[in-house]
Amino acid sequence: MKPETPQHRAPLDASARKAVAPVICYPVESLTRPDLAPFHAAREGWRLVSSTLVPAREARCFDVPQGHFFRISSVEGPQVGDLNLWNAHDLGERFFSGKTRALHGTHLSSGDRMWSNLPHLRPLALITEDTLDWYGFDAFGGSVHDVIGTRCDPYTHNLLSGGQYHHCCHSNLTRALAARTGLPLHQAEAHIHDVLNVFMCTGFTRDTGQYFMKASPVRPGDYLEFFAETDLIGALSACPGGDCSAEHSSDQAACHPLLVEVFQPQEAPEGWTPPGPNAYDRSHGL
Ligand SMILES: [Zn+2]
Repeated sequence: MKPETPQHRAPLDASARKAVAPVICYPVESLTRPDLAPFHAAREGWRLVSSTLVPAREARCFDVPQGHFFRISSVEGPQVGDLNLWNAHDLGERFFSGKTRALHGTHLSSGDRMWSNLPHLRPLALITEDTLDWYGFDAFGGSVHDVIGTRCDPYTHNLLSGGQYHHCCHSNLTRALAARTGLPLHQAEAHIHDVLNVFMCTGFTRDTGQYFMKASPVRPGDYLEFFAETDLIGALSACPGGDCSAEHSSDQAACHPLLVEVFQPQEAPEGWTPPGPNAYDRSHGL
């Protein structure tokens, strides 16, 4: 956060320096934007293979084989979900929120991919439908499905407010991954990573640049749909913040379950090929 009263006087050419137009850090023209039509066509006749109801203030893991779709749906009431994704064969390859943000922007929608961490950097999942894509950006600069927050966690809660709260998304995801893998709790915790904030409405304040949240526009029936580019383990936490209109890290907010459904298409989407390893040679110049 910038100081309200700067310690340093602006130089004479300050306005000229500030007037320099920005350039996009990562022009993504070289990343072909997927044509979603074959993915939508592949849904015809698909088969529901699993259904997981994530209880309020809890998390659950789910498995998605490569080439399957999964949908996260709002049921019962407005609710935000915190999503982690791993390569099912290597928990060391996981969703990389930071680079996904650098490539696709602060909030994701259909056509965006969820990229994995270095040294992998390949798509784990492609977002194929977003029923909240009408929202765009609001007058506050807010939008839906962000990759700018991290996940609510009991350490930050303790730092700011004191106390021991055990149903932050970080803890929910930790317990869920431990249950799915059999890993001891603290080993599972090390695999929890920055999330895709599904349905959460967030932004940065224009005056102070602070991370803000506001009531999610999600309503029962809304969903975010993904295509698994590789075999995935997912974990979804129904955030204790509920619709995140007021607070999280407590049991105060009204919370609702979230539904995760996995679908098997009859055929792979036309033209889709599984992502190979990143082509960088990893010599790092030596
Ligand atoms: Zn949370």
